[in-house]
Amino acid sequence: MAARTWIADVTIVSPENLDHIGKGSVLIENGRIVRIERSAGAKKPVGATLVSGKGQFLIPGLIDSHVHLASIPGMRFEVSFGPAEGKPAMIQEYFEQLPRSYLYYGYTTLVDLAVVDHQALENFRQSPLHPDLYDCGESLVFANGYPMSLAPPTERFKLFPNFIYDPKQASSIPAEYKPEGHTPAADVASVKRSGGICVKTYFERGFEQDKNLPVMGPRVLAEIRKAAAEDGLVLMMHANSFEAQKFGVEGDVDVLAHGMWNWGDLAKHSEIPDEIKTVLDQIAKKKTGYQPTIQVMQGLRAYFDPDYLRIKAIPNVIPARMFEWFNSSEGKWFKKELVEDDTPDAAMLEMYDEGPLRRVRQVVGYLAGKDANFLFGTDTPSSPTYGNLPGLNGYLEMQQLQRAGLSLQQIFRAATLNNAREFKINSQVGTVEPGKTANLVLLEKSPLQSVDAYDSIVTVWVHGRPASRNSLAVSPNQ
Ligand SMILES: [Zn+2]
Repeated sequence: MAARTWIADVTIVSPENLDHIGKGSVLIENGRIVRIERSAGAKKPVGATLVSGKGQFLIPGLIDSHVHLASIPGMRFEVSFGPAEGKPAMIQEYFEQLPRSYLYYGYTTLVDLAVVDHQALENFRQSPLHPDLYDCGESLVFANGYPMSLAPPTERFKLFPNFIYDPKQASSIPAEYKPEGHTPAADVASVKRSGGICVKTYFERGFEQDKNLPVMGPRVLAEIRKAAAEDGLVLMMHANSFEAQKFGVEGDVDVLAHGMWNWGDLAKHSEIPDEIKTVLDQIAKKKTGYQPTIQVMQGLRAYFDPDYLRIKAIPNVIPARMFEWFNSSEGKWFKKELVEDDTPDAAMLEMYDEGPLRRVRQVVGYLAGKDANFLFGTDTPSSPTYGNLPGLNGYLEMQQLQRAGLSLQQIFRAATLNNAREFKINSQVGTVEPGKTANLVLLEKSPLQSVDAYDSIVTVWVHGRPASRNSLAVSPNQ
């Protein structure tokens, strides 16, 4: 007998159909949605397990199209590749819980943007219950540019073997790496071979200590663009500045992987300057995928906000030992790297709120007014911060998007159908329709009524397999 589930009498909220939301019953068989019955009083099919959805809402599983699964919140970038800094048990517990923390907030599909540790992704895929995971393979970093610049010069070429050769920097590239093996076309081909669905590249001159990192020019980007199109891969660019987003949209990238919080010389303007609006208009008109990732900045701000570690949900997604470490003075080491001299916390909060957060909210609000092609992505965790925790960070990002001016419909579409279409996985996921994978979330509240609906999860199905929300939280003895 096939494994069948009948979710009866539920309000179906599916992004292709928001004008005709109604009740129905959904039949899942062998991991797929096979039938949706709209008539009232439809009978439960023989042999199916009944789940009453009365008074509840069924949505497609959510998609976070910007995560970094090998990175550990609160820990140095290098820890992901090297010794566990004397905390192997803490790190192991974290990775064991990781898939469930995403599911706890309804994320059933993830895209990892830059594979740095194949084993970490493989372990994730091997865990008993986990979101579907896609990736962009090893990212295309311009030689010695961001983010390979974060690794020591002796290590960085080993860590980022898919870098783009730059003849001008030949003297600082180890001789074993030949130019012909590191062209845009060769690098894109390597992503394709590894099974990636997207190509991730960067335009970042740097921040803090490193402000003059090498960046690619339009000719290199055009070659990447061409190769990615030929291989059917989505081209994503890390770009958070006015200069970078202008460069990316002019070079026809598919997705800008951050909001524009860096306005360069225009940073002091209190309203969006016209030259920035021109670029935003282009982004909206070309339907360039846009991931605001506002939580990247909130994740830095978290070190100065006494309320952050008091968020009640943290112990549901982070095992106790790691949570205790976040609360220790050693666990706050990254704060010292963020703060100059002895600036008081209140001044740091104001700096974020009046600076990058103000600017990114303005930009995102402007794009919302133009109905830009928003894609939901969190960049979890975006840095060594403990302010971007798996699953929870998505829920916080949704609150940020609403605050910046996205409607609840825009948020819902960004996290479902927009993501599915952009990443060409819409034949599998993104809506509640027959033929799709049974990745579904049952909610007590409607996501079109309030953003807290995303925190009212009752059950999550992954390929038809149900998990109650409680079973996905960190267990008390963990
Ligand atoms: Zn990222």
